[in-house]
Amino acid sequence: MTVGIVWFRTDLRVVDHAPLEALAGRCQRLVAVYCVDPREYAPTRWGFPRTSARRAAFVLGSVIALREELRRRGGDLVVRRGRPIDVIPALAREVGATDLAFHAEAASDERADEAAVEAAVGADGVRVHALWGHTLAPIAALPFSVRDLPGHFTAFRQQVERRVRVPAGRPAPTELPAPVRDVAPGDVPSLAELGLEGALDDPRQLTSFVPGTVAGMARMQGYIWDRDLLRIYKQTRNGLLAPDDSSKLSPWLATGALSPRTVFDAILAYEQERVRNESTYWLAFELWWRDYFRFVALQAGRTLFRRSGPRGRDRQWRWDEARFGAWCRGETGYPLVDANMQELAATGYMSNRGRQIVASFLVNDLEIDWRAGAAWFESQLLDYDPCSNWGNWAYAAGVGNDPRPNRYFDLAKQAASYDTDAAYVRHWLPALASLAPPLAHEPWRQSDVRYHARVAPLRTAERTTGLLPL
Ligand SMILES: Cc1cc2nc3c(=O)[nH]c(=O)nc-3n(C[C@H](O)[C@H](O)[C@H](O)COP(=O)(O)OP(=O)(O)OC[C@H]3O[C@@H](n4cnc5c(N)ncnc54)[C@H](O)[C@@H]3O)c2cc1C
Repeated sequence: MTVGIVWFRTDLRVVDHAPLEALAGRCQRLVAVYCVDPREYAPTRWGFPRTSARRAAFVLGSVIALREELRRRGGDLVVRRGRPIDVIPALAREVGATDLAFHAEAASDERADEAAVEAAVGADGVRVHALWGHTLAPIAALPFSVRDLPGHFTAFRQQVERRVRVPAGRPAPTELPAPVRDVAPGDVPSLAELGLEGALDDPRQLTSFVPGTVAGMARMQGYIWDRDLLRIYKQTRNGLLAPDDSSKLSPWLATGALSPRTVFDAILAYEQERVRNESTYWLAFELWWRDYFRFVALQAGRTLFRRSGPRGRDRQWRWDEARFGAWCRGETGYPLVDANMQELAATGYMSNRGRQIVASFLVNDLEIDWRAGAAWFESQLLDYDPCSNWGNWAYAAGVGNDPRPNRYFDLAKQAASYDTDAAYVRHWLPALASLAPPLAHEPWRQSDVRYHARVAPLRTAERTTGLLPL
């Protein structure tokens, strides 16, 4: 009797899932497993939980959705609490596993988990299949070794665009081998059991993110096909407020409910059936960024999470709890920063433009250790992905893979370009809702407007007019 275990982590889907497909084809019994790892829910060194209630709800909702997908195909999902090294080898012994398959991850902690599990089950004679499947480019098809990964995105992209053929996504298996009898499926924990609490709804939220593949596919179908928005993606993608400014597929890509190749296939189909233009190219371009940060994480190992980053560049950082707290809560006194941070706390999402603005503010204006900002994003973002998050933060902090050493985002210029009518700040900051555009971005200019005091002067002010009076 061949018994396979498929270990799910950030690949919570059945479509385009090579480990599931591989073991469905070779095993007579199949056990799919997900570990609710206590380390994911522990407090960080910065004093807040590593996963917020909102992100936990999205991840656990995705686990429930995966279980439904597996059950629909005659399978099931076993859910266990514990670290993979404590769960998987014990489960393998319990079910008499002959094979273990999983998608290989890129970040160092996840890779360490894989190595430990692989060694433990390998010692019991289980065949291990660690398959690459989180990127557009198969790792084996890269025209360079990961050690020699180009130091900048442009060089990476030019080579992969020219030399890598992205394989089409694979369909889900229609039927799965039966699960092993007598293995309790286990329940998915509630937020309270994980020690998490907090309101999950906010009346200001404009986009709803429903976990699972069905909802992710519906979002993709609606954005690309029904509302026909891919043709203008490049013009709208930097918008801050509207639900359709960008694809908003990231939470499903991060949990793996959607495979990047499913999105890539949709882009190709749209180019064939509707239009091929700069915008259709640009969505694929962004997916290549996602790929790049995966490979950067693989190359960088633990240095991705160190203060001096993958580049080993040290710089003086401050720690100021009051200012950091004001940044997290969206109470810095700078409306464009505050609106973005309040959106993040209220919804678990923030636009790419917003992320760049608030990251620059934290590292350049407040000079606060970038790892605290990255940790806060990790806690809050529904689309949290270690490679994209820490890679982008290292980039913003000037310690990552960026040809330019200092990317400073000038708040006044950003507001004038991306929130000209102040609709975004007025939406997220009710205190400013009645102000006309220039004042809504600079409420300190009028003495009778009551708003948070500015936590620190801006560096632009230092450069141009001396310190701005607070
Ligand atoms: C400081 C900072 C932290 C970030 N943290 C994350 C994170 O934890 N998880 C995450 O998925 N993205 C992260 N990003 C990248 C980017 O902001 C989001 O992917 C994007 O805003 C998601 O919205 P969307 O799906 O509408 O993107 P779209 O513009 O529609 O892009 C489509 C997809 O391309 C990928 N993508 C786009 N931009 C980037 C990028 N700069 N880096 C990597 N992938 C990209 C995402 O998968 C995204 O869903 C971060 C960016 C910054 C500046």
